[in-house]
Amino acid sequence: LRASAAVVGALITRLASQLPEGTLRVDTEVLEAYGTDASDGGMHLPQVVALPQDTAQVSRILKEAQAAGVPVTPCGTRTGKSGGSLPVHGGVALSLERMNRILEIDPIDLVAVVQPGVITGALMEAVEAQGLFYPPDPNSWPSCTLGGNVAENAGGPRALKYGVTRDYVLGMEWVLSDGEVVRVGRRTLKGVAGYDLVGLFVGSEGTLGIATELTLRLLPLPAYVQTALITFGSLEQAAAAVNAVLGAGLIPRALELLDAVAMRAVDGRPIPFPADARACLIAEVDGATEAGVEAELVLLGARCEEAGAKEILVARDEGQRARLWEARRGVSPGLRRLTPHKISDDLVVPRSKLVEAIAGCHAIGREEGLMVATYGHAGDGNLHANVLYHPGEEPAVERALGKMLELALRLGGTITGEHGVGWAKKRWLPLEQPAPLLELQQRLKRALDPAGHLNPSKIFPDGG
Ligand SMILES: Cc1cc2nc3c(=O)[nH]c(=O)nc-3n(C[C@H](O)[C@H](O)[C@H](O)COP(=O)(O)OP(=O)(O)OC[C@H]3O[C@@H](n4cnc5c(N)ncnc54)[C@H](O)[C@@H]3O)c2cc1C
Repeated sequence: LRASAAVVGALITRLASQLPEGTLRVDTEVLEAYGTDASDGGMHLPQVVALPQDTAQVSRILKEAQAAGVPVTPCGTRTGKSGGSLPVHGGVALSLERMNRILEIDPIDLVAVVQPGVITGALMEAVEAQGLFYPPDPNSWPSCTLGGNVAENAGGPRALKYGVTRDYVLGMEWVLSDGEVVRVGRRTLKGVAGYDLVGLFVGSEGTLGIATELTLRLLPLPAYVQTALITFGSLEQAAAAVNAVLGAGLIPRALELLDAVAMRAVDGRPIPFPADARACLIAEVDGATEAGVEAELVLLGARCEEAGAKEILVARDEGQRARLWEARRGVSPGLRRLTPHKISDDLVVPRSKLVEAIAGCHAIGREEGLMVATYGHAGDGNLHANVLYHPGEEPAVERALGKMLELALRLGGTITGEHGVGWAKKRWLPLEQPAPLLELQQRLKRALDPAGHLNPSKIFPDGG
């Protein structure tokens, strides 16, 4: 699929006459920056980076690239963990980062209209200033884009109570692989006319088209929020507490679990963890009244104590809350500091199998002689099982990752809860999905991208 330098050169010449100066970049440091992401999937240099500023420019780039037979790989800010934005066949890396305007926030209709390059945290902040709430909160919110969230159907700690990105996308503008621009979905909460094409796009990992405008659903901002750090003497106790809390009829807005390795990775950054804690939960509850939220937290604490909690530390103010979440967000980069490499399996199991899944991942780590950290959105049964390793240990890592995914499937789960299949996990998709289902999805891909040049070789093992 890789196009020759001459073909790409001719494409650049054609596009340069149609796009503002500075839209196309071929300098080495820029190509290198767009050749990697947060998946540890290596360097895959694009042949040109395109930085369009509006839908017409995106459409033009796709149209000309399609005509020239040059692959195009869309990207946001490349925080993806499954290698979806890696330009594995070179060609054009098309970044939406300059399309970063919040176009509208409507407090009556409870919608926001945004360009795809808006940073998730920027939208959260803008709507919260108006007493509104955009719940999807991937832990990368300070740096990832809403377009990337939609393409990956990103989740986050608050998915437990509020759902994932898909639950907040009402409509969108979508540029097809040949440059045609369509608008799908709507602005209203309900509406069932025609196929649910928004649902098809969300989670399609940049393989079916490029989102150039998003109409997102908002909620009123909950008036009260309380956050607690709950420590345990064992990982099993912490996992059991998750089920005890949910079994008591409580739905906290977050219930995040960290094991001892994950805690060590962020200890003191910025909060110290009690030395004897072997696992912890970060629990957050919200609601419309202070008394209701307090009562929920007390009940949650009681269930955790019954499950063996050692200590329950409630954040006293916004500053302490922010520091707790800073520690949670620091886990992934913190683990990266412990060994030269790390790779993350983002598996999901039914909640009843959480204890078994955690114990199983650690046993696999011991079998393969590798350090394993488990943390994540335990309330959703979504575990980030991280394998930390040194150069030379790759074969053991590969075996460990495969065994963990097989374990998740054996327990009735899935190989990815929110990071996507992308480039990193495509060889494992057939473990979860039978050949006819893979073929059905590839037929959809062929219908929307007949030439197969849009983010090629992602998701499906044979290239899609
Ligand atoms: C520290 C850290 C914490 C994280 N925590 C979470 C978490 O809690 N939950 C979670 O779900 N993920 C998490 N992630 C993963 C990642 O941040 C998300 O997948 C995020 O949605 C990616 O957004 P991005 O802008 O970086 O997209 P990129 O990585 O640039 O791209 C991701 C995919 O989206 C496609 N894409 C991007 N923009 C568009 C567009 N406009 N139209 C079509 N396709 C597009 C790309 O082709 C690619 O396939 C985390 C990552 C890090 C580094």
